[in-house]
Amino acid sequence: MSNFVKLEGVDLRYGGSNGVLALNGTDIEINRGEFAAVVGPSGCGKSSLMKLVTGLTPPTAGKITVAGQDVVGPLKCVGMAFQNPTLLPWRKLLSNVMLPLEIVQPHRRRLPAHRQEYIEKAKGLLKMVNLDGFEERHPWELSGGMQQRANLCRALIHEPDLLMLDEPFGALDAFTREELWGVLQGIWMEKKFTTILVTHDLREAAYLADVIYVMSARPGRVIATHRVDLPRPRTIETTFEPAFLEIVHAIRNQIAQIRDEIKAA
Ligand code: ADP
Repeated sequence: MSNFVKLEGVDLRYGGSNGVLALNGTDIEINRGEFAAVVGPSGCGKSSLMKLVTGLTPPTAGKITVAGQDVVGPLKCVGMAFQNPTLLPWRKLLSNVMLPLEIVQPHRRRLPAHRQEYIEKAKGLLKMVNLDGFEERHPWELSGGMQQRANLCRALIHEPDLLMLDEPFGALDAFTREELWGVLQGIWMEKKFTTILVTHDLREAAYLADVIYVMSARPGRVIATHRVDLPRPRTIETTFEPAFLEIVHAIRNQIAQIRDEIKAA
């Protein structure tokens, strides 16, 4: 497998040479089609990492490549979803999901002549996340979990090579969150887009990821990498199995140690 996302010795300093060093010597390699999760204590630079990989922020030092190309500006091949679904309240669900098609080429060019084909595609995605029948509803008519499912569809409608998820289920209740792990895993297993998930939730990371990167406290760098070789599809039952619990405990201990070091410093 080839590296699809690669960070080599990446530093990020905010606010000039005397500013905050958020990341220091970060190395990450993610293979094409792999599901990676990044975990670590608050403020360790997880969101900064997302901004760097997507080209929204340039690194202060080091090198970032995606699909073999240096990242020098905002990437077009990315889909993104954040903690709060950012659906437009005045648009119905189908129209919200289709929004990236109005922005990202070549879809923008193709959309007027191929609208029906794209509508079918959007409906197909909504069906995959069990939202068929809700296409003509407004976001405010739906629950938080339903909005986040639609948000995932919108992040995927333009078939991005890379999906970036920053705490996507953080605002949801535990049951809805766990249900959406299964939904996301299902779409990923079918489409196999490379994914980077930033999360505080270690069970979420172990359920979804092939590989988990643990970051140190600020300045952030990768201090441990865990491979999750559990068979798929994983289920909630998987989360009670000894092999799963072992991974979660190992990471929890690493993060507890980092937090103790922060307190002692
Ligand atoms: P995380 O997502 O892991 O909580 P962030 O990537 O948001 O961490 O932030 C990493 C560190 O960089 C934090 O200490 C934060 O205060 C600092 N930071 C983030 N954005 C900025 C900014 N625009 N200017 C200055 N410092 C920032």
